[in-house]
Amino acid sequence: KPRPVILDDEEGGVLFFSAAPSISGYGYASLEGQRQRLPVFKHRTAILYLVESHATTIIVGETGSGKTTQIPQYLKEAGWAEGGRMVACTQPRRLAVQSVATRVAEEMGVKLGKEVGYTIRFEDITTPGVTMIKFLTDGVLLREMMNDPLLTKYSVIMVDEAHERSLSTDMLLGLLKKIQRRRPELRLIISSATIEAKSMSNYFLPRKKRQEQASENGTPSTQPAILSVEGQGFVVEISYLEEPAPDYLQAAVSTVLSIHDQEPMGDILVFLTGQDDIDAAVQLLTENAQKRGKHSSGMLVIPLYSGLSRADQDLVFSPMPKGKRKVVISTNIAETSLTLEGVVYVVDSGFSKQRFYNPITNIENLVVAPISKASAKQRAGRAGRVRPGKCFRLYTEEYFVKEMPAEGIPEMQRSNLVSSVIQLKALGIDNILGFDWLASPSPESMIRALEVLYSLGVLDEDAKLTSPTGFQVAEIPLDPMISKMILSSNELGCSEEIITIAAILSIQSIWVSGRGSQKELDEARLRFSVAEGDHITYLNVYQGFLRSGKSTQWCHKNFINYQAMKKVAEIREQLRKLMKQLGINLKSCDKDTQVIRKAIIAGFFAHACRLEPFGQSGVYKTIRGSQEVYIHPSSVLFRVNPKWVVYHSLVLTEKHYMRNVIAIDPSWLTEAAPHFYQLQKPNPAMF
Ligand code: ADP
Ligand code: MG
Repeated sequence: KPRPVILDDEEGGVLFFSAAPSISGYGYASLEGQRQRLPVFKHRTAILYLVESHATTIIVGETGSGKTTQIPQYLKEAGWAEGGRMVACTQPRRLAVQSVATRVAEEMGVKLGKEVGYTIRFEDITTPGVTMIKFLTDGVLLREMMNDPLLTKYSVIMVDEAHERSLSTDMLLGLLKKIQRRRPELRLIISSATIEAKSMSNYFLPRKKRQEQASENGTPSTQPAILSVEGQGFVVEISYLEEPAPDYLQAAVSTVLSIHDQEPMGDILVFLTGQDDIDAAVQLLTENAQKRGKHSSGMLVIPLYSGLSRADQDLVFSPMPKGKRKVVISTNIAETSLTLEGVVYVVDSGFSKQRFYNPITNIENLVVAPISKASAKQRAGRAGRVRPGKCFRLYTEEYFVKEMPAEGIPEMQRSNLVSSVIQLKALGIDNILGFDWLASPSPESMIRALEVLYSLGVLDEDAKLTSPTGFQVAEIPLDPMISKMILSSNELGCSEEIITIAAILSIQSIWVSGRGSQKELDEARLRFSVAEGDHITYLNVYQGFLRSGKSTQWCHKNFINYQAMKKVAEIREQLRKLMKQLGINLKSCDKDTQVIRKAIIAGFFAHACRLEPFGQSGVYKTIRGSQEVYIHPSSVLFRVNPKWVVYHSLVLTEKHYMRNVIAIDPSWLTEAAPHFYQLQKPNPAMF
């Protein structure tokens, strides 16, 4: 039974709506009815037959055709989740995992976490022995291999959204191919929106023997089967800008307003890049709506990005009352991972946030970069779900034709490979250069990753995991530099403090954005700030949060994101348990910030920078690599400019900015990493 959602209408009354999407022309269909109208339903028998008879099945189908929500259910209905084994379905994004699992549980009429569950990092909503369909991130499935290398818990593994070519998806495909040789009964489904199905299919053939024919007598064919599910999309009219837009955020906001003023009813989906620009756009549009007066605005603006609260997530999917238009401002997640019914207009900024790694400087950045033609096409397609739609591209046609790349570069080829290498090593795969990659990463990146791991003491001279450090670092589901920091904090006696820091660093931001002025925010921050830097400041915030009894009011007053702090407390608890499993007792250093900073350096010594003594003020250079960097304005050390610092991460906008910075003494660097830094001895020959 569809669950009613209560929405306030403009007159202040209350309306009841079905939470189920209303496919136009069908009214409020039952969930079962909706399931049967999805394009994949026609292929149900074919899919089940192919999975039965082939080790690998590749399914290509337009976004919204029902791949993610339906296929795992078909498999369960056909008995693939019996006998204690599960059907797994991976997604590159956490929010997608949560969202589809919730939807499938609803369709099956079960409580989430029972027959249908999900697992993302630090959050396991499954019940052993009960869960039959499990959604999880590709990264989590990789981690599961460490304890269960053949993934024996699963009968079928569906690697979804394969066209995204996320780092973990590519690694997973390479490893699953290996597992298949040991477990012929395991079935793989590779599904995606658009994909070069042929090259994916070739990849799954044995490297040496390219079989032409399916083998006989009951053993499944090694030749993957390919199935295409036709879409049901409508025509989308595309328009471009005459001149390039100087500011895509402003352009997006004014395009939304003109659609709202001039075009007939229908929801609007806007593609921006990340939480910052999305929050800014939501604020601009909401202010504008308020200016026009509540009654005439008729527009509800909703952000969509990972880290969103449950309530906001639900709002994204709930249908609007008649006469009201929904405007969803989203990251790439709405490109293919999630389908929003009712979208008729798409506004495409032409950008997304992407990882880029430079092995020479060893710097990985998350940058706003142009999307590919393939992505632009997907984005436009979102406008044609329920009726013919329109897509407004915030770039020129000439740019699209002449400059936009046809395809994106797989993440594997633009990432720091430290985490990947350590995982392969932990799985006993020693010849990393010879691994059967779907797209080979550059040798420079691999060598750089080996170097970093060696300097962290995770790998020895023969590139084998060290014991116990290497194995312990591999065991912790965090960046190896963070894991090393945690392990060292044990020796230094400050692990209580360091796991708090690790938990805070693993979420985007603990500060509230988009409320109050910058001045108010800065003042709030100042209440916790210390000269030692951001990490120590975070410890003060966490202490304050605990002292307030985890109070929402306290968070509100101090411009701290309550949801984020709750998450921090949860992650910290998970880390505490993990430490216990690793046999590590937590110790507190009781405010000795020097040892805390030394523990941070044990993991992050490679991120040390020195203030340039001459020239423009505030310029730092990385000690290894001499890259010019600056302290990010959000840091408590912005304008303080200590001589020596260590940063957590870099963001690249117009400059390289260091986010989360501590002040250090340079002697701590040589102490923590003598193999990496040496104090310069005066050269006698020079005198
Ligand atoms: P695909 O994986 O092929 O892109 P999905 O299985 O995700 O397709 O979606 C199939 C249908 O289910 C879509 O029409 C979508 O609108 C609907 N749907 C999926 N998730 C939700 C949700 N959380 N709420 C409402 N409808 C949903
Ligand atoms: Mg999907």
